[in-house]
Amino acid sequence: MKIIDEINRRRTFAIISHPDAGKTTLTEKLLLYGGAVQLAGSVTSRKNQRATTSDWMELERKRGISVSSTVLQFDYAGHRINLLDTPGHKDFSEDTYRVLTAVDAAVMVIDAGKGIEAETRKLFEVCRQRGVPIFTFMNKLDRPTRDPLELMDELESVLGIHAYAMNWPLGTGPDFKGIYDRQASEAHLFERTQHGSYRAPEEVGDIDHPLIRDRLEGDVREQVREELAMLDEAGAAFDVEAVRDGKLTPVFFGSAMNNFGVQLLLDSFLEYAPAPGRRMAECGPIEPTHPTFSGFIFKIQANMDPRHRDRIAFVRVVSGKFTREMTVTHAQTGRRARLSNAQALFGRERETIEEAFPGDVVGVVGGRDFGIGATLTEDPAIVYHEIPRFPPECFAYLHNPNPSQYKRFDQGVQQLLQEGVVQCFELPQRRQKVALLAAVGPLQFEIVKYRLESEYGAEARLESAPWSMVRWFAQSMDAESLAKLYLPGGVEHAVDTRGEPALLFADDWQVRYFNERNADVTLS
Ligand code: GDP
Repeated sequence: MKIIDEINRRRTFAIISHPDAGKTTLTEKLLLYGGAVQLAGSVTSRKNQRATTSDWMELERKRGISVSSTVLQFDYAGHRINLLDTPGHKDFSEDTYRVLTAVDAAVMVIDAGKGIEAETRKLFEVCRQRGVPIFTFMNKLDRPTRDPLELMDELESVLGIHAYAMNWPLGTGPDFKGIYDRQASEAHLFERTQHGSYRAPEEVGDIDHPLIRDRLEGDVREQVREELAMLDEAGAAFDVEAVRDGKLTPVFFGSAMNNFGVQLLLDSFLEYAPAPGRRMAECGPIEPTHPTFSGFIFKIQANMDPRHRDRIAFVRVVSGKFTREMTVTHAQTGRRARLSNAQALFGRERETIEEAFPGDVVGVVGGRDFGIGATLTEDPAIVYHEIPRFPPECFAYLHNPNPSQYKRFDQGVQQLLQEGVVQCFELPQRRQKVALLAAVGPLQFEIVKYRLESEYGAEARLESAPWSMVRWFAQSMDAESLAKLYLPGGVEHAVDTRGEPALLFADDWQVRYFNERNADVTLS
């Protein structure tokens, strides 16, 4: 197959949702369509916290959450689909945000009984800022839901995105009888089957078909008819370009648990979601058809599997063809590296891969120099800056209670910082050197502590620090101008790992007060 065909048949996406909306269930059902039934189990088993002996996973098990993102790849209808799983717990939102830099589209799952929830909103915002096209799945239609028109309005008013109903529910909850496909003018009827049944049957007919007439109470049918008429009159028109620009979200109703409406979602998604797209490099945009291989690391995972005690850098292929044993330049250090140990990642399973194309994710084992955001490329002119830093919201001091182990401790901390597990600041005003860790969620600190102990044999102690935000300066600040600043009580100077000065604040109020007293300084 020509490389252009390989690119065009790929779709790389992530599912975003508030916890419990049904992301895991939908993932599992999507995999069924790829015939990858055995993978479906691996997704749930993680969820159910069984079948794992890894001590890295112990933290997950103890907390009942999933820490590691996985990449699932499957073929369906001539397409190659890369589904990048994202950690569900909100403390890992920084990880999730990074995963979103590696996708070309997202599916947003909403619990139709609840509507848009806090996490959905945050993740949606990250997608919007990146212009990622978003497909919406309104889930749990088998249970009583909110009014579907209201749910559509909420997408527009709360998220500020135009919404187009691709299909429409025929009743909800106990009255839920199926969905009406607006484009094909067909109804798909819902049969209540045993939970988790494989490929729920879907009969197809017209809305005035006797099958529907028999099932829908007269008033429900009239209501659906009215709603459909309203959608036709008032709603935004379906416009693929607007979908691809992230300005319009196609909305699908269904029930992941019952595998109902999932195939309609998948088929439309494959039709309308974009193939792997370009990424911005320092030298300009790099198209997937660019002749040489390039990609960037968006995640590093250590010790995913106790049988391989090592780390994997996840590389999103942006351009060209990746082949095993290829030699690339690590753009940030200029060093050459042979990628002899590249792996495809299927959930927890690994498999050595021979080649990969734009849109794919390759796991590179080892590569201790490789940090988050690093570019690997055959063309040293390409340097990506895809991974932004996310503003931390929690801070903690990291102490080494055993000074005799300082070597292991320092080595471990350096490694974890390079992986991007947490951010770190120095506090230049302190007489004693102390490391201040910063994270989006406090669970990230526990991972540092846990990993220092289990992987580096270095004990660590965490102590909470009073700040909740960090601000950098919009202008360059020398030592003299820093010393001249008026700092409200509790605000402290900090220096990040790149040597940039910053300030630590406890709350918004302190920031405002600082701004009032230092009118000539702009924070960023
Ligand atoms: P996640 O946290 O977003 O991954 O959510 P899960 O997929 O684990 O689902 C959360 C809960 O909702 C589980 O108990 C699922 O069985 C349930 N669930 C998922 N989809 C549906 C659905 O279509 N209908 C109903 N009634 N429950 C669902």
